[in-house]
Amino acid sequence: MNEHESADRTRPVEYDHVDVSVLVVGAGAAGARTAIELADRGVEDVLVLGKRGHGDAHTTWARGGINGALGTHDPEDSPAIHAADTLNEGHFLNDPGKVETMTEQMPDRLRELDEWGMAYSRTEDGEIDQRFFGAQSFRRTAFAGDHTGESLLNTLVEQAQKRDVPYRENVMITKLVSDGEAAYGAVGFDMDTGEFVLFNAGTVVLAAGGYAAIYDRHTSRDDENNGDGPALAYDAGASLMDMEFVQFHPTGMAVDEDDPEWAPWSGRLVTEAVRGEGGRLFNADGERFMERYSPDQMELDARDVVARAIGKEVTEGRGTDNGGVYLDISHRDADFIRDRLPRMYERFADLGVDMAEAPVEVAPTAHYGMGGVAVDDGGETDVDGLFAIGETMAGVHGANRLGGNSLAETVAFGVAAGERIAERVDGPGAVPDALVDSLVEPHLADLTATANRDGAHNVESVLADLRACMWTHTGILRDEASLRTGLDALADLRERASDLTVGPVTSESFELAVDLGFSLTAAETVLRGALERDESRGAHYRTDHPEADSDWIRNIHFESADLGGIHSYTEPVGTPSEAVRAALDEGHELDYHQLE
Ligand SMILES: Cc1cc2nc3c(=O)[nH]c(=O)nc-3n(C[C@H](O)[C@H](O)[C@H](O)COP(=O)(O)OP(=O)(O)OC[C@H]3O[C@@H](n4cnc5c(N)ncnc54)[C@H](O)[C@@H]3O)c2cc1C
Repeated sequence: MNEHESADRTRPVEYDHVDVSVLVVGAGAAGARTAIELADRGVEDVLVLGKRGHGDAHTTWARGGINGALGTHDPEDSPAIHAADTLNEGHFLNDPGKVETMTEQMPDRLRELDEWGMAYSRTEDGEIDQRFFGAQSFRRTAFAGDHTGESLLNTLVEQAQKRDVPYRENVMITKLVSDGEAAYGAVGFDMDTGEFVLFNAGTVVLAAGGYAAIYDRHTSRDDENNGDGPALAYDAGASLMDMEFVQFHPTGMAVDEDDPEWAPWSGRLVTEAVRGEGGRLFNADGERFMERYSPDQMELDARDVVARAIGKEVTEGRGTDNGGVYLDISHRDADFIRDRLPRMYERFADLGVDMAEAPVEVAPTAHYGMGGVAVDDGGETDVDGLFAIGETMAGVHGANRLGGNSLAETVAFGVAAGERIAERVDGPGAVPDALVDSLVEPHLADLTATANRDGAHNVESVLADLRACMWTHTGILRDEASLRTGLDALADLRERASDLTVGPVTSESFELAVDLGFSLTAAETVLRGALERDESRGAHYRTDHPEADSDWIRNIHFESADLGGIHSYTEPVGTPSEAVRAALDEGHELDYHQLE
């Protein structure tokens, strides 16, 4: 342990030093797959860390599946058609290069996971089974029951352990060390001991998840997906892109909020696999309403289409008492449901509902941020030595995401980033003294001042108000007046966030106070992006501009400007390859009625 004086010389700041070549922040599927690739390419001196225990990352909550054009049932499927479906769903705001980086790799990635022992569900012939998922032309979603994420992460963690990849649990990164041009490492604290740590690292990979939990009703764990990854990168000088595109999953649990048994489940995901296996939506009048909104693709149309349809049924008075609609798979027999959807079946059975006998209630819920850090095809940002991958990065999903594509993105970009880093890694980093004085120690002094503070506001209530503000002002339906009100409310929340009551560094309130800072950055870029994009496209729906505008085939970027300001600019989208253009011209589309 070294003892240094903080830059304002009022308080000594103690911190530990760790020197590594590559620091991977995040141990979900994206971070774990990067570490495996680095190990296989002979890169030593890598450290992976996460703010939870080993094997406990948000990835474990992923349910329905992972996409790749294996063609188990539909041999005519191909990576080019997978890319075409992804671009269609993304309303052509996706970066075609990144989409193809993913779709080209995925058949191999799925087979590799099979060789590594992933517990896929299988066909009678023993092949990797693939199911229908919304808006995909073919059965392309490989799965392990409805616990695909857990199975994937277990497989990757086991492989990382076989390669002796060093891992540190329960460390939270609070700031990257960067001069805006290059990254030199990161600062954080050990959540068990409260010790501050400076990680010197020539390369930093952010694989720290997304930002969907900044909404009131969300499918994420409350303490994950608070915007850590995007906010850390933004603060370090990287640009954020597409932040206005937030996916509202059509089927979150709709519950009686006054019932203590059900209330904690509000907004939790009812996997798309329920519809992929034949589940049907009915309003409170017993009408199968998707026939009115999407007679061809029905319940398996794109998530934004189904979410808005449910929202409309509810606001027009055809919803249930709990503000949802019914999702019914009781026409399938109990053995089938238990086999294909074991966790869903169990969850509802524990709450007293047998899915083989009765429908469940569902309503839209914030699920995934399509935006994130702008990177190139190798996952590298504009800041030298800083990478961002998995849910932290932007570009693959555009204006909306196909279910099953985010797990695909984690492993595909884990490999792409690992390859790129292996070509350029040149030993442990060293944080320049000037940055230690001007950035590291003042930041640690701020953290020290935040701990044990007796301020006017409770951190949990500020976070709850922030989430409510996002749901109200930049939810499924948006308009200029409400977005402006949301930005004003955000300024007030920032004010409150500067005067919090916080416990010691090891307390939950300290973690939440750090998270609140990240969430405010993510929230501001979502609100500003939604205001700037005066059109409707994919998951972003402006009631005052309900049509798509072809001039808006551009991505909105945000960068931090001097004096705490924010700078936005737009960039045009790239062109898909010839093979993908051909697949787009062929006009493949899901034929929902195959399911009936
Ligand atoms: C309920 C649910 C179901 C889903 N189902 C599917 C599905 O079926 N198919 C699909 O493709 N996608 C699905 N998704 C999306 C998918 O699970 C995620 O996009 C994906 O798992 C993200 O993986 P990741 O490695 O990028 O991040 P994560 O798994 O979120 O891992 C982030 C890591 O970063 C660490 N971390 C975060 N912040 C910090 C910090 N400040 N300091 C240190 N460490 C930090 C965390 O501890 C963790 O280790 C689902 C999402 C949800 C919420």
